Amino acid sequence: MKKVANSTAGGQAWFQKLPSYLWLKISLVLAVTLAIGSRVAAAASTDNAQLPHIDAKRAFEYTREVTAFGPRYMGSENHKKLERYIVEHLKGDEVEDDAFTADTVEGKFPVRNIIAKFPGTKDGIIVILGHYDTVYPLRNSGFVGANDGGSSTAILLEYANQLRKKKRDGYSVWLVWTDGEEAVRHWTNTDSVYGARHLAEKWEKDGTLKKIKALMVMDMIGDADLDIARNTKGAPWLLDLIYSAAEREGYQSHFYAQEGPSEDDHVPFFDRGVPCADVIDFDYGYNNVFWHSPQDTMDKLSSKSLQIVGDTILETIHLLDQR
Ligand SMILES: [Zn+2]
Repeated sequence: MKKVANSTAGGQAWFQKLPSYLWLKISLVLAVTLAIGSRVAAAASTDNAQLPHIDAKRAFEYTREVTAFGPRYMGSENHKKLERYIVEHLKGDEVEDDAFTADTVEGKFPVRNIIAKFPGTKDGIIVILGHYDTVYPLRNSGFVGANDGGSSTAILLEYANQLRKKKRDGYSVWLVWTDGEEAVRHWTNTDSVYGARHLAEKWEKDGTLKKIKALMVMDMIGDADLDIARNTKGAPWLLDLIYSAAEREGYQSHFYAQEGPSEDDHVPFFDRGVPCADVIDFDYGYNNVFWHSPQDTMDKLSSKSLQIVGDTILETIHLLDQR
């Protein structure tokens, strides 16, 4: 409209110089155009109808099944069973392994990151990570990690369901079930995130890192009392985008009441300059009492929380695609 106003000559707007019959025609065209325009505007304002939704009940069932394997620490039989379970759920998908042996203070362990790739039309990759191992030092404590390990494995399986057999009109999305996120003794830079460190190094060497537009970690996202912290060890614009997506879904009250840095699978990527966000609820029970405790069980979780995080992240992907 500004351009039209600028195109005035001799103090008269261009349309004032037109013969009246032509003006009428233009008015009609204008009216039709405005009508179409308002319909487009109406469609935009009812965009809520197109917001993505995961099948949260199914995701919750996955969490239950994963947790039912029992402790799934590195090197365990249950860990192998879970690897098979994940791969079986990715039949027909493009799946890749990043497998190696980790040399740790507790000995050598086989580590296996499982990657499912969903190609898009845009040049660039959105990566979503979630760990599937449980805590090694708690292997004999009855710790089953429903939230810590279970919920992250499950939500990624549900993302795969949402991405499968759909044409992606956006960036490629890679889902990574990371292994060895947990420390085998005490959390340090060298005793933690074994899988993520290996993958970040590998992707730095082969040039993949440069193609990553955004990397988001899902961790402990099933807590029925869901409050995702704003993790300052992340790209501010990506953290803001996640919040915008949550707002669009009407879930913003579950995001960012607290903020602070976190150590998780994103760190090796964050340290290499990849735009990251660690989506974690690190306030699990009063004073985080259920965290790394045998009390991390299914009864503390809700499908609603999986819905909130699942929908928000799918919407974030949608917003990323438009950037
Ligand atoms: Zn943990």
